Amino acid sequence: MANATPVRVRFCPSPTGNPHVGLVRTALFNWAYARHTQGTMVFRIEDTDAARDSEESYNQLLDSMRWLGLDWDEGPEIGGPHAPYRQSQRMDLYKEIAQKLLDAGHAYKCYCSTEELDARREAARAAGKPSGYDGKCRALTADEITGYEAEGREPIVRFRMPDEPITFTDLVRGELTFTPENVPDYGILRANGAPLYTLVNPVDDALMEITHVLRGEDLLSSTPRQVALYKALIELGVAKYVPHFGHLPYVMGEGNKKLSKRDPQASLNLYRERGFLPEGLLNYLSLLGWSFSADQDVFSIDEMVAAFDIADVNANPARFDLKKAEAINADHIRRLAPEAFAEACRPWLQAPHANWDPADFDETAWQAIAPHAQTRLTVLSDITANVDFLFRKEPVEDEASWTKAMKGDPVALLTTAREKLTGADWSSPDSLKEAVLAAGEAHGLKLGKAQAPVRVAVTGRTVGLPLFESLEILGKERTLARIDAALAKLGA
Ligand code: GLU
Ligand code: ZN
Repeated sequence: MANATPVRVRFCPSPTGNPHVGLVRTALFNWAYARHTQGTMVFRIEDTDAARDSEESYNQLLDSMRWLGLDWDEGPEIGGPHAPYRQSQRMDLYKEIAQKLLDAGHAYKCYCSTEELDARREAARAAGKPSGYDGKCRALTADEITGYEAEGREPIVRFRMPDEPITFTDLVRGELTFTPENVPDYGILRANGAPLYTLVNPVDDALMEITHVLRGEDLLSSTPRQVALYKALIELGVAKYVPHFGHLPYVMGEGNKKLSKRDPQASLNLYRERGFLPEGLLNYLSLLGWSFSADQDVFSIDEMVAAFDIADVNANPARFDLKKAEAINADHIRRLAPEAFAEACRPWLQAPHANWDPADFDETAWQAIAPHAQTRLTVLSDITANVDFLFRKEPVEDEASWTKAMKGDPVALLTTAREKLTGADWSSPDSLKEAVLAAGEAHGLKLGKAQAPVRVAVTGRTVGLPLFESLEILGKERTLARIDAALAKLGA
């Protein structure tokens, strides 16, 4: 391929199930490479399997890409010069090309039944030979074909692999060679004429003039087949060149096993629901097989785009580390402008998350407390529990927290704290702190022990945002009323 060819990459998921982080990593690397090279990002939907594909999953894919901010230059909803971008709408094209491959002898009809194939595979295995398709139908005579047809057999169409090894240079792994015994002839059309992934994926990559195929390592074994198919398509004038291939490393989950799509940790929706920021999640996912620099793990998406090169992707398996993902997300939360943070939290201040009467939400209190939350949250969804004491008529009731905090003589402590707080300067958290400190001293308690019953009386929880700022924002009257209610509950 000429080096001057502008980069065209593609993200081409099948709409089955929920999007998972492995898929997002693939989308991200393609997108970053397109943006880095000022190339074109093609988004194609590989929905040729009517039994498994769903419209719901298609909508989720688009919605996820939009949420992540991974935009595309050609694809669903925006179209482009190679439209349509849903394979279900391109079926005639594939049949036409399969026919061309048949006519040119690059493909042939295979009449073997599943049972026959299974039996031969078993026999080859038992004899310690390669167990892929054995080429039985490669050169059927006209009589054999007539015989099979008369039996009512319905053939599949198989691609004829060349008899020489296939070599290509993987952008991540370097030069790779596959010998013919390991890459047998493979099906491209089902007996009912339906085209398979093995055909439609490279055909569309060719028609859409994709220059770089960046995808997961699990697809590496299909690459020699695709390279051979490409060469046939070049001969037929359908393809212009064999694209570059780069296979992104496996992502390992718990117990050093490959992270599976079904793993709950793998679900993109989980990260969305927990309140990851798109940038935080993308930052973390970019580190699965790539690094920004030896001493910097947190960066913006623009910084990533500026630095990203497929040549720097590491072939070794990457380990998915939820704690690190959260830590990076926390850093991105800190990086937001205060107004952006306050807005990003909005969904978690509303139904179905809010556990208060919506009429009691107080914008002024929210704006006052938000900066204290911004420096402490790991994920945005934690905001609800951290601020609900401001908007609820009464704090949440949590027996475990209550028992934990109301130790020793809580009545004595709370009574003194109430007294001291009554006389404090409510325009300063320092003055409120002094009050609780003094109450603690009166009962031989350090600040930590003294503030625990106050915190639970006022917020219902043992942990939360800085207590004295919280009290100041809640206000004197409500704070004292809650301490009174706690004292009453304690039987004082
Ligand atoms: N639709 C295929 C998949 O989701 C695409 C594979 C590829 O990138 O070639 O696995
Ligand atoms: Zn056959």
